[in-house]
Amino acid sequence: MVVREKLIVGDENFTLTHAYEILESEKKGKLPIVNKNDELVTLIARTDLKKARDFPLSSYDSKGQLMVGAAINTRETAKENVRLLVEAGVDVLVIDSSNGASRYQVEMLQWIKKNYPESPQVIAGNVVTMKQAKILIDAGADGLRVGMGSGSICITQEVMAVGRAQGTAVYQVARYARSRGVPCVADGGIRDVGYITKALSLGASTVMMGGLLAGTTEAPGEYFWGPSGVRLKNYRGMGSLDAMEAHSSSQDRYFTNEADAVKVAQGVSATMRDRGSLHKFVPYLYRAVQHGFQDIGVKSIAELQEKVHSGEIRFERRTPNAQKEGGVHSLNSYEKRAF
Ligand code: NAD
Repeated sequence: MVVREKLIVGDENFTLTHAYEILESEKKGKLPIVNKNDELVTLIARTDLKKARDFPLSSYDSKGQLMVGAAINTRETAKENVRLLVEAGVDVLVIDSSNGASRYQVEMLQWIKKNYPESPQVIAGNVVTMKQAKILIDAGADGLRVGMGSGSICITQEVMAVGRAQGTAVYQVARYARSRGVPCVADGGIRDVGYITKALSLGASTVMMGGLLAGTTEAPGEYFWGPSGVRLKNYRGMGSLDAMEAHSSSQDRYFTNEADAVKVAQGVSATMRDRGSLHKFVPYLYRAVQHGFQDIGVKSIAELQEKVHSGEIRFERRTPNAQKEGGVHSLNSYEKRAF
């Protein structure tokens, strides 16, 4: 005799939370989600539930999949990349350029918005002034990346003589973008955790970090021992000669004319100390930002920005002496352990 158990299924209109509750209460490993014709739409697994529980800070899209972003350039060839990325379900595209307020970027942005009006979201940039921000927001940007020449491996300000102090850039661009309902990413200059809190206070909704994470276990590349017995990883600016030589696509971008053989580096190649695993480092960053918020007296980024906007939270210029005083000073020697 064959005993058939009743198949437990979920309706396609269920929220993920409800689907997880059913998985729990019915003690099943998988929950098929069906439409009104009883056709299978998707499958929710217990492992998804476990992952959502173990990594509560991960960002999931409406389908319950981890959110994924991809960077593209403004060359004609990037259009095929966009097509494939959208097909693969990318959630956000980042148009990556040192000066985002270019004709190439505006055209690429408008092309994406025209051809893929539903998805994905597009973060455009980089920009450092309100005028640049306006150009990209008018062209359809959903978010802006702010920063020019402030990255640790970046020599744009030195070589190209363009750029802006990062704090000023974030404050001014975010102030304008806020009036248009567009969020900003502070990209570059996050030297340590305190800079995350500063960037958020100045109006960024999130930060982008290169150097701070470049020495972690999860960063690309193998560790090696430096001359002073320190474990190191290589960290290369995308505008460095090394990066240009390694990637022909990167190389393409740096020739103003394809036949031009003269390269102009906008970045350096560096090494970073071993920082251990992201699994320890990111929770440290997260917790330290929370402590910063507690000291400022706010519970969320939105509240922080609202209070900066209304003038309830204000900034004060620190003299060079005040900055010195605000750091470790007047000691014979010291050891600094962050966490
Ligand atoms: P890019 O691709 O925007 O520009 C490279 C060159 O290609 C420029 O001369 C540009 O005018 C030209 N170009 C771009 N699209 C074109 C098109 N459709 N047709 C013809 N020419 C075109 O790259 P970039 O600005 O040099 O940046 C390269 C990388 O370096 C990026 O990852 C960028 O983020 C990084 N970078 C960042 C900064 C910064 O301060 N944020 C500074 C330097 C480099």
